[in-house]
Amino acid sequence: MKKSYDIIVVGGGHAGVEAALASARLGKSTALITIEKSAIARMSCNPSIGGLAKGHLVCELDVLGGEMGKAIDATGIQFKLLNRSKGRAVWSPRAQADKIKYERYMQDVLENQANLDIIESDARALEIQENEFRGVYLYNNTLIKAKACILTNGTFLKGKIHIGNVQIPAGRYGELPSIGISDQLKELGFSVGRLKTGTPSRISKRSIDFTNLQIQEGDKDPRAFSHSTRNFDPPNIPCWLAYTCEHTHEILRSALDRSPLYTGKIDGVGPRYCPSIEDKIVRFSDKTQHQLFLEPEWDGSSQWYVNGFSSSLPIDIQIKALRSVPGLENAEFIKIGYAIEYDYFPSYQIRRSLETKRISGLYFAGQINGTSGYEEAATQGFVAAVNAARKLDGANDFILERHEAYIGVLIDDLCSKETSEPYRMFTSLAEYRLLLRWDNAHLRLLDATKKIGIQKSDMIDLFERVKRETYILNTKFSKTRVTTDNPFNIPLGSTSSISLLIRQQKITENNVMALQKHYFPDYLLDSVDQAYVQTRYEGYIDRQFKQVKKMNQLEAKGIPHNFNYSKITSLSNEGREKFLKFKPDTIGQASRIRGISPADIQVLLIFLSK
Ligand SMILES: Cc1cc2nc3c(=O)[nH]c(=O)nc-3n(C[C@H](O)[C@H](O)[C@H](O)COP(=O)(O)OP(=O)(O)OC[C@H]3O[C@@H](n4cnc5c(N)ncnc54)[C@H](O)[C@@H]3O)c2cc1C
Repeated sequence: MKKSYDIIVVGGGHAGVEAALASARLGKSTALITIEKSAIARMSCNPSIGGLAKGHLVCELDVLGGEMGKAIDATGIQFKLLNRSKGRAVWSPRAQADKIKYERYMQDVLENQANLDIIESDARALEIQENEFRGVYLYNNTLIKAKACILTNGTFLKGKIHIGNVQIPAGRYGELPSIGISDQLKELGFSVGRLKTGTPSRISKRSIDFTNLQIQEGDKDPRAFSHSTRNFDPPNIPCWLAYTCEHTHEILRSALDRSPLYTGKIDGVGPRYCPSIEDKIVRFSDKTQHQLFLEPEWDGSSQWYVNGFSSSLPIDIQIKALRSVPGLENAEFIKIGYAIEYDYFPSYQIRRSLETKRISGLYFAGQINGTSGYEEAATQGFVAAVNAARKLDGANDFILERHEAYIGVLIDDLCSKETSEPYRMFTSLAEYRLLLRWDNAHLRLLDATKKIGIQKSDMIDLFERVKRETYILNTKFSKTRVTTDNPFNIPLGSTSSISLLIRQQKITENNVMALQKHYFPDYLLDSVDQAYVQTRYEGYIDRQFKQVKKMNQLEAKGIPHNFNYSKITSLSNEGREKFLKFKPDTIGQASRIRGISPADIQVLLIFLSK
């Protein structure tokens, strides 16, 4: 351990791992300070990566040079492309993880990363002078100096577990909370909030009666998250589907007066989209059953995760209620479900670089910003580290816009919307969904990844080849004629161009492989697929590009950080208050702040032009 580094990352969760790797890979001497080395990259809750919109985040991170996609490809036990029956915009990859192998994979990568030291310790306080970050104090008061710091404390800041009436200070089950940092930041003027999340029980596999449960298998043709993954042949270990019944709901209902959620013991706001089971039976009281997914936590695991049954009810009720579920009558409990409350910092306090507005050189990433989820955390960790490293080099901020990436949507939302509950990424949050597909992350982020400089050159060459070929294929599709004896078995009166047949949906998704094989064998399947999507959705894609162009005119109008909104008397009171709170970087961002009227934007434009 040295006494001084370029960048310190506090916390070895999903945000911290990506932050530490990105920083070290950009050549910065980096220290990762984390409470427990063996808990690095731990999946606190569900053993899975990806899912709707979250899968997009992982693919984008992979293209930019992050590790999460490679890690899950190497350690996943079941892969599925979700929403395949719907349009391309909302297809999303998800994988069931072997959470033990996943942690070990990440720990190995970190151990072997040049420029990176892992310090097993509790970071207790920050050294701040004249609103600038200078260093981190460890639990024994040792000061480690650095030029920048990325805080990724997750659910640990003054974390408190709830199980019925019992409250335990903890950052996660069996792990100590982080005390000190959030109070210090509050003293420095930061606004602090309280959020809550929860996790279900883990039960023993041998106690599950699978006879009447529905099997849930992965895809037979699994797709990897990372472009660098080769020889991809993961296991396809099934999960199982069970259902709660009226009796389960009666048991839960009878104990609501013992639930910390309803007795007022929990102050923090939980995620509306991921409620606990007791919350579900209250909010959806007309439902007679709720789905539960039974998932192994690792390959060969005897410990199974009961997805959908998160609870903070007392132990006796959790046991009784789960045992009323058909198939789980004899459930043996390994770990009981619980809720956790923790401090977070409302994200209007950060810029799009993820640097805090108040303290120079101090960045926040992950759950500390009020988000929820491994993927949301990982992408923020990466972006924060890239920006911290760029600041040290005197380079401009690395910002992704909303039309470029889900990462851009996530960070822009954090900086321009007030989050009163844990923020989770959804496809519905992106206005340019058709442009932001999971399958084209390498094309839309090619320039961005070259700018960052972490991605390996063979990958950049591959992405450039796909881009080039896709461009050529778009022309070839309209020039190549398909004859009546075509390999797709399409009945044709006369010859027709490939483009036309794609637009008429005669050549479909299922024909893409045959299209490549018979007409364009010298081109990559990926390139043919990209050209297929671009042809199939051409009209919609063009329309979205036009909308982006319009929006870009507003995004291009920057607002200086020190702009004095207080002086503009013609702003509405709400407008002035919101601008002072969010301090938007651009007019585009200003226009997305809730409560800002078109009149406020007009006034702002006039003053900026002056
Ligand atoms: C019980 C529970 C249930 C959850 N349920 C869900 C869910 O259903 N869906 C969902 O999307 N997300 C859920 N989450 C949240 C999910 O785990 C987080 O979103 C994700 O892990 C956030 O990543 P992170 O890197 O920000 O923080 P974390 O993964 O929490 O990692 C924080 C890291 O920082 C370290 N650390 C903290 N303070 C210090 C310090 N002072 N010094 C040194 N190291 C420190 C910790 O040891 C840990 O390694 C749940 C979390 C918990 C605990």
